[in-house]
Amino acid sequence: MSEDGWVGDETTYRVAVPSDDGGPATVFEHLWTPYRMAYIRGEGKPTGAHDCPFCVIPTMSDEQGLIVARGTTVFAVLNLYPYNAGHLMLVPYRHVPDYTDLTPAEVAELGAFTQAAMRTVRAVSGAHGFNIGMNQGSVAGAGIADHLHQHAVPRWGGDTNFMPVIGLTRVLPQVLRETRKLLAEAWPEAADDREA
Ligand SMILES: [Zn+2]
Repeated sequence: MSEDGWVGDETTYRVAVPSDDGGPATVFEHLWTPYRMAYIRGEGKPTGAHDCPFCVIPTMSDEQGLIVARGTTVFAVLNLYPYNAGHLMLVPYRHVPDYTDLTPAEVAELGAFTQAAMRTVRAVSGAHGFNIGMNQGSVAGAGIADHLHQHAVPRWGGDTNFMPVIGLTRVLPQVLRETRKLLAEAWPEAADDREA
């Protein structure tokens, strides 16, 4: 445990992006293979027959896994390597690769969680816009192609100018932890804020 009470394996969060030497290839690899999280696995976690990070994260505490909200079939988690501040992912618990694999209940909750993510990030940060979407298949850029996940990336006017810089900058663990706390606290009210 660290001096501030963080019980996660902090060394795992200190794994830097393999190449910080810049260039478009590095930028895009970094941006779109966001969850290289094999190394955030805790010891003795039930990983089942595979080591899928999206299956492992829900077994962690919210703080350790950077989980913002847990639903019945879907959870919301901060991206460890965010494309922008507040970059969330909405993920079904079930290990399925394709959108067409989801049940109607999962589709509905994924949609509700996507709305809640937008409302929450707007409430907390005043985001001007969002990029929402999922990459289907590794050929389409999915970093973890076997486990469906929807990205919700907040956007602010002018952020394209410095996004590549952000994309190459490792986010400090305490920043992610504080972001997670802010969003988790705002989530319930924002999720209920359904406008007529
Ligand atoms: Zn999985």
